[in-house]
Amino acid sequence: MSAPLTIALTKGRILKETLPLLAEAGIAPLEDISSSRKLIFETTQADVRLVVLRGSDVPTYVRHGAADIGVSGKDMLLEYNGADLYEPLDLGIARCRLMTAGLKNKPLPRARIRVATKFVNVAKQHFAARGVQADIIKLYGAMELAPLMDLADLIVDIVDTGNTLRANGMEPLELIADISSRLVVNKAAMKCKYARVQSIVDKLQSAVAKRGN
Ligand code: AMP
Repeated sequence: MSAPLTIALTKGRILKETLPLLAEAGIAPLEDISSSRKLIFETTQADVRLVVLRGSDVPTYVRHGAADIGVSGKDMLLEYNGADLYEPLDLGIARCRLMTAGLKNKPLPRARIRVATKFVNVAKQHFAARGVQADIIKLYGAMELAPLMDLADLIVDIVDTGNTLRANGMEPLELIADISSRLVVNKAAMKCKYARVQSIVDKLQSAVAKRGN
């Protein structure tokens, strides 16, 4: 049998929305991912396996060829600078917006602003492009807390319904990017495993098209 084809999935809400698309493409894990502590799963296609990772690790696995294909939020690709990955398909799932946000009715300081985020690169580029002097503060979670505790003036974060912001007295300000999950492919795999990779891309494309997204 040929070398297995490995697909890296992002755990959490992206995983939940990816599995039905994969199933339509004929790829289903042989056991329930959500109730297992395993990280590698065999599938109904003997030569295809799934690995389940943190979103921020998916581009790294695919770029280095440890996974051939990945499903990654566009937010992660922007932050990672996914330039050295192919991005053949927008899966149209896990849609949200990457935005700046601040405390309601609180004016920004005139000089340098402090911005808390886990999207350090995206934030740097965003403010530099506007000529705004920003000190970026890296956080790993609960960004909304930073302005409340006066650690930062603004945050850069994912917004879906806006409920998290509202619950913390904040409001969305500027849209940085519309986000959805993307299929990414390792460049060497696209050449060396072309037929198998392209067949998966095509099947997922049909599954996405069927949904009319
Ligand atoms: P919401 O309160 O609906 O605006 O959701 C905001 C929070 O949910 C953010 O802090 C994100 O961490 C998370 N979130 C919402 N949608 C997504 C998504 N598509 N991908 C990753 N995280 C998300």
